[in-house]
Amino acid sequence: MRKACDGLVLRVTDVGDHDRSIVLLTADEGKLYITAKGARSVKSKVASLCRICAYVNVETYEKNGHHWLAAGSVNNAFFGISEDLSTFALASYIMQIADEITGEDLPAHDVMRMSLNTLYALENGLKPPEQIKATYELFAANVSGFTPDLSTCSVCDCENYANGIWLDVMNGSLICADCQKKRGGGLPMPETDEFQTKNILLPLDSSALEAMRYVASAPLQRIFAFGLSNEKSMSLLCRAAENYLLHHLERDFNTLHFYKNVSK
Ligand SMILES: [Zn+2]
Repeated sequence: MRKACDGLVLRVTDVGDHDRSIVLLTADEGKLYITAKGARSVKSKVASLCRICAYVNVETYEKNGHHWLAAGSVNNAFFGISEDLSTFALASYIMQIADEITGEDLPAHDVMRMSLNTLYALENGLKPPEQIKATYELFAANVSGFTPDLSTCSVCDCENYANGIWLDVMNGSLICADCQKKRGGGLPMPETDEFQTKNILLPLDSSALEAMRYVASAPLQRIFAFGLSNEKSMSLLCRAAENYLLHHLERDFNTLHFYKNVSK
C-alpha cells in the first residue's frame, strides 16, 4: 500500500550506480529512510525529490521492511539557497543538526517547523547568516534537553553583570565575573572541575545574554525576531551557541567545517 507524506530531505546518499537513498524528516514520524530507485538517472522522475533541503511530498511503499520512493512532488526546493555556496553550506549544516537531533518513529513537529523557517530565513536573507546559525544551534540544544539556566549567576545568584558574565558550557549555567575570579583564585581555570567535568567558560555580554534568553522562550514563528547591539555581541553569541551545542551533542559536524571554509 502506498503512503503519502510531506518531508524535508536532510541527507542524500548515492547507492550503487543508479539509486539514491534519502533521509526524510517528517513531522509525525520523525526520520524515514527511503530508497529511490533509478534516481541517479537523468531521466528519473524522482531525481528532483532527492535534493538536500528540498521540502517534498512523497509517495512511498514498504517492501522487505524498507521504504521505497514511488512518486512525489516538490513543495519548495529552496533553490535560492544553492545560489550562494556559503548559504548552501550553512543550510547543509542545519540539515545535519536536524538529522542528529531527531530519530525514527519520534514525532518532530518543532524541529520540522524550525528547520523550514530557518531555510526560508536563509533563502530570503531575513537576518544575518551568523544570527540564523546561532538561533538554530540554541534551538537544537533546547529541543534536545540541554536548555541552559540563564536566570542568575549559578554561584552567588546575583544579576549583576556589569563586570562581565560567562557561560559555563558543561554545567549549562551562568557565572558572574566576580565569582569566576574567586573560583579561579586569580589563576587560569583548571581544565576540569572536582567532578571531572570539563571547564569551558565562554564570555557573554548583556546583549548576547538577552538574545540567548529570547531564543529559549520565543515562539517558533518569532524566534529570529531579535537584534544585537553590535558586532562584538554577535560574535560572543555565535561562539557561545556553537560551542554549547557541539559540546552537549558531543560531536563535530563536517558541514560546519565546510561552512567555515567557504564563508571566510
Ligand atoms: Zn556570581
